[in-house]
Amino acid sequence: MSDFDYDLFTIGAGSGGVRASRLAAQYGAKVGVAEEYRVGGTCVIRGCVPKKFLVYASEFGHAFDDAKGYGWSAENISFDWMKLIENKDDEIDRLNGIYIRNLKNAGADIFQSRATLKDKHTVHLHAENRDVTAKTILIATGGAPWIDESVPGHELGVSSNEAFHLKKLPKHVVVAGGGYIAIEFACIFKGLGCDVCLVYRGEDILRYFDRDISVQVHSELKRRGIRVITQSVFEKIEQCEGDQKRIYLSNGAEVDADLVFWAVGRKPATAGLGLEESGVELNKNGAVVVDEYSRSSVDSIFAVGDVTDRVNLTPVAIREGAAFAESEFNNNPSKVDYRFIPKAVFSQPPVGTVGYAEHEARNEYKNVDIYKTNFRPMKNMLTGSEERVLMKLVVDAQTDRVLGCHIVGPDAPEMIQCIAIAVKAGVNKADFDQTVALHPTAAEELVTMREKYKAPI
Ligand code: NDP
Repeated sequence: MSDFDYDLFTIGAGSGGVRASRLAAQYGAKVGVAEEYRVGGTCVIRGCVPKKFLVYASEFGHAFDDAKGYGWSAENISFDWMKLIENKDDEIDRLNGIYIRNLKNAGADIFQSRATLKDKHTVHLHAENRDVTAKTILIATGGAPWIDESVPGHELGVSSNEAFHLKKLPKHVVVAGGGYIAIEFACIFKGLGCDVCLVYRGEDILRYFDRDISVQVHSELKRRGIRVITQSVFEKIEQCEGDQKRIYLSNGAEVDADLVFWAVGRKPATAGLGLEESGVELNKNGAVVVDEYSRSSVDSIFAVGDVTDRVNLTPVAIREGAAFAESEFNNNPSKVDYRFIPKAVFSQPPVGTVGYAEHEARNEYKNVDIYKTNFRPMKNMLTGSEERVLMKLVVDAQTDRVLGCHIVGPDAPEMIQCIAIAVKAGVNKADFDQTVALHPTAAEELVTMREKYKAPI
């Protein structure tokens, strides 16, 4: 008989927490899970999944235009924002139900409650005003949007959390930020017919990506009519008449909008959890510091997912949760391999990328060869669209190994998921060359790039 109520108690039922809890329960552990909002976490409830529905919705905006070149006429089209939001919410409810069912079927107890740590083995459940004890505690509370509260009027803006529940489609949107969320939502609102202005503090949006990607996405945003203002931040936001707000920028410009959207990053959700009081070390961003087995500085407390601020992506949190459960409850010590994780930005056109950016490869490898192509895809020949596709391979010249692959263009995320298998397995450029092209596709360009790229002198 255990001295504790649970073998594992998980705080946070998002992707990482649910995977860890389900697996641990399947391995025979007695598991409790507390969630203060909705089971499913950011990805399912107010992140990747609802975002992708909004992306699909907004792509129709361009598709109606493109269809004309193919003989279709789409007159008097209209769009109903609330219908989209209701349909999206129905699907999120369905997924939320599946997540709850899966946890219960695995044998876990679910508590709809905020939970905080009392000590290294005790969790306080606020909704029930009682404590439970556990041999092992897993922190899987994820992250939350960060808003720059030093900006006067910052509260007049919304984050991605609220954007999924707007009561009406805005007319003019101003987005702060140049990362994943800023670019994705700028494209969503543009595709739905809004006037969009993006304000980014640096020079190159998506600056952690290969520079060719940021340049290509930047020019595609502009081509689609998104106004991009770089090297500027919000200095002040003022309420004007009705829904209107005026945003004062650091470059002296003023822009008006009925929706101000903060997308300047997310922070690990650790505030008020009682972590530091229980001896758990946090880093300067407030993330739980963990070792390669996701163990915190307290031996009974582990953490997975965005709360650890390692690679903040759903599939990574799932891997971390699974590796934790394998290690702790299946006697099979497991670590996550963080190399060659494919990534996508669901901009329009989207980005798919895996492995080293050119600048990263040049820092680490002696000789790097670059292969790249930039073309108008076949579909656009009849639509008149000037949208282009970028494909780029980064190759270690000494071994011929493909270190990175970067694509901007329709279906790039779908392509990169498959290419990532080969790149992770150590594919060489010669293997690309020996693979027969599949014609006519855009992806065939990946196996027909023969000439090394030489930068213009
Ligand atoms: P990102 O880190 O991608 O982008 C944050 C942006 O805000 C950057 O452009 C950053 O500028 C800018 N910024 C940061 N601080 C300030 C400031 N004080 N003033 C003005 N601008 C600032 O974060 P997101 O919030 O977009 O996304 C969070 C994470 O969620 C991502 O890192 C990703 O891991 C995940 N995500 C993944 C998605 C996907 O897989 N498709 C989709 C959405 C989110 P700078 O670049 O100069 O630092």
